[in-house]
Order: sequence, then C-alpha cells, then structure tokens
Amino acid sequence: MFSPLPDKPDHPALELEILDLWEREQTFEQLRDRNRGNTRWSFVDGPVTANRMSLGVHTAWGRTLKDVFQRYKGLRGFDQRYQNGFDCQGLWIEVGVERALGLNSKREIEEFGIEEFARRCREVVVQSSEALIRGSIRLGQWMDWGNDYYTFSDTNIEYIWKFLAIVHGRGWLYMGHRSTEWCPRCGTSLSQHELTQSGVYQDRADPSLTVRFPLLDREGEYIVVWTTTPWTLPANVAAAVHPDEEYGRRENGEWVAVKLFPDETFVERLRGSELVGWRYRGPFDDLPPGSAVEHRVIPWADVTMDQGTGIVHIAPGCGGEDFELSKVHDLPVLTPVDESGRFYDDYGWLHGVSTTEAADQIIGRLGETGFLVDAGLYTHAYPHCWRCDTPLIFRLSDDWFISVEEIRPKLLEENAKVHWVPEYMGKRMDDWLHNMGDWNISRRRYYGLPLPFYPCACGHLNVISSKEELRERAVEGFEQLEELRRPWIDRVPIRCAECGETVSRILEVGDVWLDAGIVPFSTLGWENPEWIEEGYATGAAKGLTKADLPDHAYWETWFPADWVSEMREQIRLWFYSQFFMSVALVGRSPYQRVLAYEKMLDEQGREMHASWGNTIPAEDAFSQMGADVMRWQYCAQPPDRNLLFGFGPAHEIKRKFLTFWNSVKFLVDYGNIEGFTPGWDQLEPDVELRPLDRWLVERTKQLVAEATAGYEATLTIDVTRAFDAFVDDVSNWYIRRSRRRFYSFDEAAFRTLWFALVQSLRVIAPVMPFLADHLWRNLVQDGPASVHLAPWPEPVEPDRSLLAEIAEVRRVVELGRQARSASQLKHRQPLRRLVVAGTTHAEGHADEIAEELRVKEVEFGDVQASELRVKPNLPVLGPKLGAQLREVRESLQRGEFEQLADGRFQVDGHVLEPDEVLVERVGREGWAVASLDGLTVALDTALDDELLLEAKLLDRVHEVNVLRKDSGLELTDRIKLWIPDADVLERYADRLQAETLALSVEFGELRIEKA
Ligand SMILES: [Zn+2]
Ligand SMILES: [Zn+2]
Repeated sequence: MFSPLPDKPDHPALELEILDLWEREQTFEQLRDRNRGNTRWSFVDGPVTANRMSLGVHTAWGRTLKDVFQRYKGLRGFDQRYQNGFDCQGLWIEVGVERALGLNSKREIEEFGIEEFARRCREVVVQSSEALIRGSIRLGQWMDWGNDYYTFSDTNIEYIWKFLAIVHGRGWLYMGHRSTEWCPRCGTSLSQHELTQSGVYQDRADPSLTVRFPLLDREGEYIVVWTTTPWTLPANVAAAVHPDEEYGRRENGEWVAVKLFPDETFVERLRGSELVGWRYRGPFDDLPPGSAVEHRVIPWADVTMDQGTGIVHIAPGCGGEDFELSKVHDLPVLTPVDESGRFYDDYGWLHGVSTTEAADQIIGRLGETGFLVDAGLYTHAYPHCWRCDTPLIFRLSDDWFISVEEIRPKLLEENAKVHWVPEYMGKRMDDWLHNMGDWNISRRRYYGLPLPFYPCACGHLNVISSKEELRERAVEGFEQLEELRRPWIDRVPIRCAECGETVSRILEVGDVWLDAGIVPFSTLGWENPEWIEEGYATGAAKGLTKADLPDHAYWETWFPADWVSEMREQIRLWFYSQFFMSVALVGRSPYQRVLAYEKMLDEQGREMHASWGNTIPAEDAFSQMGADVMRWQYCAQPPDRNLLFGFGPAHEIKRKFLTFWNSVKFLVDYGNIEGFTPGWDQLEPDVELRPLDRWLVERTKQLVAEATAGYEATLTIDVTRAFDAFVDDVSNWYIRRSRRRFYSFDEAAFRTLWFALVQSLRVIAPVMPFLADHLWRNLVQDGPASVHLAPWPEPVEPDRSLLAEIAEVRRVVELGRQARSASQLKHRQPLRRLVVAGTTHAEGHADEIAEELRVKEVEFGDVQASELRVKPNLPVLGPKLGAQLREVRESLQRGEFEQLADGRFQVDGHVLEPDEVLVERVGREGWAVASLDGLTVALDTALDDELLLEAKLLDRVHEVNVLRKDSGLELTDRIKLWIPDADVLERYADRLQAETLALSVEFGELRIEKA
C-alpha cells in the first residue's frame, strides 16, 4: 500500500519531516561512506561572511547551486570533501560591531580597547556561523558541518604570510605613496576591486561650483574651473587645459574653453598651449598651505570637452589622476584632511571640519572673496564605501601593494584554460586581468590578517613567513600571543635580519580577499609535511571547528578544484584573489570550471534593500514557500540574467509542483484501489506494453538523458526545463490518454506510470531534495531508503523517432485546441471534421487526435479550408512602389496574386519579397484554422442536431461527475442517476451510465444517489 496523499503538499511541514529522517537515518553519512575512495570530484566553497544573524535569500541562491551539484555528483558516486567555509575578518565584521557598540571612529575603537574589540568581533563570527549553518541545513544543504574552515584561524593567516614572503622574495611587494579612494568613516583606503562591488556607485547630489582664479600677470583676467568637491579647493595647486583646444576670454575677463560655450562671444582666443605657464592666485591662499604654492596652468591631454569649463582644477592630494600629474609637472602635493576626513589644523578656520560639512563654509567664503561664479547642485553616480555607505574621498596614503606586471601574462594564459559558464564571464575575467592595477593589500584597521611586515630603519624589510619564524625572531611578547592578531601581535617586536636592531610590525591589516584567496592552499594542506588532526582549528578558530590540516599529498589529490561557483561580482573578488595567489604560488589556476551568475533583485526588478522593505528573510521564505520552492526558483534561473526573486514566482512554482503531485497522487489513489505493488528489482516494466506505454518509457529515458546533460553542463535551468516538459507530458498526455486503464487493473499502465514517476524523482532530487525524497519513500518501498541513496539512472539513448512522432501528435492537438478556442465553440462541443496538413509522423494517431479534439474524423492532406491573406508591409513597400502602392494593395486585398517559391508573391507585374509583405492564414467561413512551424489544422465548425445532442450529453456527464465529487463519493462508488433530458436519455443512456458509474438512469430532476 502507498500512503494516501493529501490534495496539496504542505511543503514546510514535509520538509521538516524529511530533515528529521535524514538526521535519524544518517542519510548523508551513508552517502559519503558509500562514495569514499571513489573517483574524486573537488569543489571548494567560497566563504560566506559570518556577520549576519540569519541566512539571506541571496546567500541561499549560491548555497542551493553548490548543493545541487554536490548532490548530483554524490548520486553519481563521486568522493567529495563537502567543506563549508566562513569569512571572519575585515570591515564587514568590524563595522557591525562598531554599530552595535555605538562606536563612530577609529579613535573610539582604540579608546574602547582593541583587545576587547577583537573578542566582540569573534563573538559575532561565532553566533553568525551558527545561524548560517542552521539556515543552510534548513535549505537542505549537505555539508560537513563542524569541519568548516574559518579564515581567522592562525593556520589560514600563516598560509597568507607564507604567500606574502614568497611574493616579497620575487620583489613584487612594495609600499606605494599615492592618492587613493578612501573611506573617512572607516579610516582606510580601499582597493580597486572593492570599488567594483555592487552598490558602490550610487546617485548623489553634490555641490556644483564654478570658480574663477585671478591671473597674476594679466590684470582683470581669470581662468574658470568647475568642481563637485569644494573641499578639495584648499588643496588646489594647478589648473589644467587641453593644449590643442581653443580657449576664449569673455568680456568680463574670464577664460573658458570655446567649445563648451558655443553661443558666447569672446574678445580674445588662444590655444590651450598658449595658456600654459600662466600664474594665478589660489582660492585659499590666505591659509598657510595654499600661500606657499605657486599656482599655475599646466597642459593635460586628458582634459575633456563634455562638461564644466574645459579647465580642470588640480589637487594632487585629493585625486588619483591629479597625483599622477604632480609627478609629471613637479607640483606640490597638499593633503588637507586626516584619516577621518577632517581638515588638519594648518587649514585654520577649516580645522576639524569634515569634507562634507566644509562645503557650505567653503562656498560662502568663495562668495565673499569674489572667486565664486556660480553654485548649484549636480547629481551623479558617486562611489560609496561598500561596507558603511559613506561617500568616499581621495586621500594621499602610503599603502602596501603587490605588483602585477610580471605575473599578468601568466594569469591571462591560465585563465584561458578555465571553462567559464556562462562563457562571457571568462571574458570579463580576462578584461579584468588585462586592466587591473597593482593589488593594494593593506587596510588601516584592526580585525584582520596582520600583515607580517617589519620595515627597519636600516632599510631592510623583514617579512615573517610563519608563526615559528616569529617565535624564533621575537624580541619579546611571544608568550602573550593569543592569536595572530592585533593587539597581541603588535606587542611582539622582532630582530632585524640585516642589522640586528629591534623592529616593530606595521599596524596595517590585510585585504580580506587574501583571507579567502588562500583557501585552496590553507584548507588542503599545501606543503604541510604531516597530517595534523584538528590542525586547522587554531587561533580564533579553536573550538569552532574540528577541521584537520591535511598533508601535502592530500593537497595533490584535491587541487585544483573541479568546480567553483559564486555570483558574477566575485570575478574581481574571490575568483580573482584565489586565482592570483594560486598562479603566484604554483603557476596554475585553482579551479577548472566555474559557474557564475548574475544578481538577485526583487520580483519587480528592484534592488532589495532593508530600508525599502522589500528584502525577504530566508526564514520567511522557508515558512511561506518552503525550501524546495526556493531552490526551484534559483535553479530555474538562467545564470546570465538577474533573478527576480519573490512570493509571486513562488506561487507559480507551487502550481507546477502541484501538477506533478497530482500525477503521483493519481497513481497512489488507483494503485491502492487495485492493490498495485511495484518492485524496485524490476524497475522498467517487463509486461506487454501498449504504444502509449512504450512512448512514456522512451520519454522517461529522454528526461534522464536531458537532465544528465544539464547537470554535466552545470546549467540547472536545462534540468528544470526538461522536468517541466516531462511533467506536462505525463499529466496532460499519458495520464489523460490512459485514465480509463487505471479504473481497472491494467498492469502495463500502472507499471509504466510508476517507472516514469520514480525515474523523474531520481533526476530531480538534487534540485528539490525534500519533495523528491518524500514521494520516493512512498512510491519505492523495497528499494534504497532515500532517493539520495539510489544510484544515478544511467542515461541511455531513447527512441528518437517514437518521441518525435508523439511530440508531433501533441503539437497537432495543441493547434486544434487553439483553433477551437479561436472559434469560441464550447469546449465539450463535438465537431464533425479536422483537416491536418504538414505532418510527417502523426498519421498513425488519427484516433487519439480525434478523441482529444472531440471530432468525428481526422483527415491528413491539404488544408483547403484556409486562405492566404497578403498585405503590403507599408514601411518597406511604400518607398519601393510609390504611387503604385495603392493599386498593388487593392489587388492583394482582392486575392489577385500568385504565390511564388521562397515566400515571394507576384502581383500586378511586381515581384514582392518575403519581407515586403505580411502573410496571414485565416479560416474560410465555417472553418477554424491554426498554424505554426509548418503545421496547419482546420476544424470544421458546422454544427448539426446530432452534434448538439452529444454536447448536451457531455455537459450532463460533467455535471454528474461534479455532483459525485461534491457528495464525497469514492472514485469506485456506483450510483443511481436521474436526468431531465428525454432526448439524451433516449439516445445515450448506455454512455451516461458508463461514464458516471451509474447502475441505473431514469427521467427526472437531476440528482444522484449512492447505489
Ligand atoms: Zn566605510
Ligand atoms: Zn635593520
């Protein structure tokens, strides 16, 4: 006996039940045991940042894809690692803790105490990782929970130290002095790749200022500049003009580019190169820094003529390009603001004012001194800190860099060997590798990888490569080192290898992408001489994980990863950092195949923001949609388009699931009535099959082949599409066409349907693991206890010609339905005749087509019942024919044309090309016609008394069956029936009885009685 199924699945409830069964039966452990020692399939998990207290639906997307492919490979018998990872350091964590503690600046963090701050950061990671694991388990993700990697482990840090020491050995490490993007709230510079993250560029209204500088050697004349960053004006040292553009002087003495003011008249015109060298008075020469500068006009070929005045204000301490120009023209560099974006005290009345607060005061001052020409607002896309949303500024900074020039060709060469899905993602990586600058790896923060750099006054840069080396070279403080982390590590000075003096570590911490990038080495035991149990659980990770540090032989067997998957943004982040580190360390890519996918938006296509109220907590999604529905939504998404996630699409998916559910329920209900007990040992039906059964067997093989190909291509959408089409074929063709065979025990039908459903559960199990297992456990009672323990069904080539035949029959029926609904005839009205043209396989199926479409006969041949209607395509034909168009149009309308080969038409002596006409096929009077892709069907819509009476019969049968259902009768219950139609009774009493399971039918008011 199968367990009876309710009318609808309760997804969340059945999922919790299945989770419980997996736990009790140790299903995942059984799978791993079974596959241990088999061929390996290596997947490396990109770490999720452990800073949130619940799983987000964004994160659940990636986790689902990872789980789907690990499950698929598991079913195929591959040995896998299943190691999950957490990102545990960096600004994400720090900023959250700062907010929780109400700290607003680095000074406040230091007053709070870095040691306690570090402990609070770790606490966030501990709680967040627990919550993320809980959410992931609820999602159905199978991972080796408890052996997770945490990037703040000392071991992970030591591996990065080793990498940095190697890079230093090659001469790639250097300290750069440059103007760089800076977050004044976080007090640190940001790297190029951090600026590529989504949400960094946001529209913002800034002051738009036009300012004029008085020329020192041309009395009463000015050069005019335009800026959106007033705070940079006190750091102005030069003004740049394009040497080849023309500049003009207005009557009032102001010089601007002529091209930008085409309607103005100028009293004097000069080439930009003639302005070069002019000296001017700076806007804030009354402040000490400005007063010491000789301001002058310089040439710059990158000055554009698309906005502003064509003259660019140059402040080398506040802009990347400005800084580069300062080197070319030997300009002084003024740095007006400190780490927190506040003016230094030599800026007088601006002292302590932030860059944003300064705007109004600066504008007011410029107005008073006569420098201001115009002030307004200007909205533009402006970069913001990816973590705290503060608008970024440019600031002069000393940062540590890894030079990329030497390794770049090798990076490009290795990337060309990676199989990227979708392909364009690989091109994006290639573009990034071509254009990226040196890697800025230092951050002026607290909770992060301590950079092991100890620069000595003697000029030697000491780079420590391991904790052991630190112990050997420490002057003091090693014993108090709780973790490789600030503040403890800052208390361990070392001895300089060159001169023997005591040197301290720089205070900077590392870019978090170093933490995640080293994972293919640190978790797999690269160059580790012997296996250390729980050897990865060091430093802050101690007690959180039991992960081992494997030996080098293990690394050899699991590196590189066969597959990794993350969202597109990670091309310049994790995909990049691990790729760079791997090519640097061992000369090859850390992954062979990548699946990258686009962004998640809400169902209206907007970004999801907590403040807009359109985010969906995973908890709500679990309880309202269920994990399977979420997973389906993720998997049915083409990776090259944004996912519009929400409850609306979830509703559609539930409806789809219900169709499948109903097919299973149909088998369960009638199987129980007939005592059907299938056996796992004879999966494929071995009894004599009817043609429709043979078709479903082949159709099932097609599903297995298509789903397998989809998984192999790492395209879940191919799997969900194949499954959708299959469910439609089972429900709307096989069951629909065979329904009666289930009312009595037709073994072939039961066996065939069971086979089809069981196989479909097996191939869809990775995508919807809960529903698939729930139904599996009901349908397969003597096989593997879980669908996730059944082996993968071996794909075999199905009988393509049989499949093509039925596919064509279904298309004919579908067109017939279209024709019927276009004619607005009642659905149950029988018709006399259907004519079908353009088929190649469907001729043998006239009976089925007739039955499906309620027609008495089906003819194959030319459809005379329709006619071509040809109209001129006016935009194309109008210009060609001119005045003759009218005549041609009238001829076409009268049908006076000749159809030529290749879709051309001859009319009135003109030959019209296919794109010059619009062609329609319409039914003649009394016919309904539909046509698609070379198939045409025509329904004879003429009705006679006979057809009308039969329609009346069918309406009654329908009514009676609704009554049966409403009175709660079992499917097999017999009834007594009364109907009020003498004509129907006289002609169709037998059919009425047969189709309503009535033992008797008599004349009377419509009613039924249980017999
Ligand atoms: Zn910030
Ligand atoms: Zn030294």
